[in-house]
Amino acid sequence: MSVALGCIADDFTGATDLAGMLVRAGLRTVQLIGVPDRDLPAEVDAVVIALKSRTSPVAEAVRDSLDALAWLRQAGARQIYFKYCSTFDSTPAGNIGPVADALLDALGSDFTVVCPAFPANARTIYKGYLFVGEVPLNESGMRDHPLTPMTDASLVRVMQAQTPRRVGLVPYEVVRRGPGAIRERFGRLRSEGVSYAVLDALDDADLLALGAACADLPLVTAGSGLALGLGPNVSGVAAGAAADALPATGGRRAVIAGSCSAATRRQVALMRERHPSFRIEAADLASGEDIPGRVLAWAAEQEGPILVYATADPEEVRAAQAAYGVSGAGEMIEAALARIAQGLVGNGFGQLIVAGGETSGAVVRALGVSGLQIGPEIDPGVPWTATLEGAGRRPLALALKSGNFGTDDFFLKAWERLG
Ligand code: ADP
Repeated sequence: MSVALGCIADDFTGATDLAGMLVRAGLRTVQLIGVPDRDLPAEVDAVVIALKSRTSPVAEAVRDSLDALAWLRQAGARQIYFKYCSTFDSTPAGNIGPVADALLDALGSDFTVVCPAFPANARTIYKGYLFVGEVPLNESGMRDHPLTPMTDASLVRVMQAQTPRRVGLVPYEVVRRGPGAIRERFGRLRSEGVSYAVLDALDDADLLALGAACADLPLVTAGSGLALGLGPNVSGVAAGAAADALPATGGRRAVIAGSCSAATRRQVALMRERHPSFRIEAADLASGEDIPGRVLAWAAEQEGPILVYATADPEEVRAAQAAYGVSGAGEMIEAALARIAQGLVGNGFGQLIVAGGETSGAVVRALGVSGLQIGPEIDPGVPWTATLEGAGRRPLALALKSGNFGTDDFFLKAWERLG
């Protein structure tokens, strides 16, 4: 087994985003939660290791990224993709610069690119300045981010503040002339002692040209957008099998909803009309009743897909938060839903949809999931996935849905995509 493209993502949802882009580009892709301690059980083209290195202390981010690199190289990765946010979330201390420096050193390379552009999501770069929608980065909401406030839109300056290596630019006039001109500019920058080339990009055609020009670089650093252009140029990708094919899963079906976002509230309302449903109340959990036990006993008596939900209207959420605190109420409900997911899987449920980002995190931890193979998209940004098989365990089908994603009939139609 040999992986063609090895990716290191600095947070979990960023990893999911990149994995989805790679599948769309035709690469069979697995997302791993942290650096694994064993070989990969599946035959894939790309691996995305999800770290939590965006805002961790610099030394820790560097160490984790080097661990991920070592694992990816041992798995055969011929090219490394360091993925960060399309708003270049970082501070003058890092972590993008120090992590990229360490990766270049470890790879014995002296040149890479810097490209957070993602035109489909309105992140564009012109003359090295990053725009979010209509405004430069420093005039966007990122100016006030609690952890990584971005107060300068010049990526050349922002990157230069994070590295002792030289930072340069491949301007739009060059990018529009195509891969040959871009590669020529890489060569010139390199001969001038530049290690990091910030890349201008205004639309998907620019990403395609840039991706082709980057095909031979040992390391690229970028948002997920560049995957659109790089994906088709990754060498060593096996043709044939559909990139989004999943191993067979089975077992009963359940939706576990811990999101109170508007889209999830509509999805819950529709599912309740058609299928058995159980509502979790914060007050019942606080009273010490064994709610997970009751849910599991109830589930055993139902037929067809079931819905277990804590989803509630804003007034009900405010009342629960007033009584138990914001994080108190949230964590109590997450813990209960995670225990319920564990119990359901133990009782033969094998295909689960989880609604809510934090809720998904809690469920994935409780189930001990180490990685996910990315399958067909149900709605934009929400693929079916299959858990990587542990010894003797059959894979579970999991759809982890951000609260506000998906059409109103998401919980009803999602099963059809599993085949
Ligand atoms: P989203 O993706 O919509 O943000 P999350 O799962 O990330 O969803 O966050 C929802 C949070 O709200 C979780 O911490 C969850 O436990 C909490 N929650 C769910 N239902 C209720 C409720 N009825 N009252 C208070 N908090 C709730």
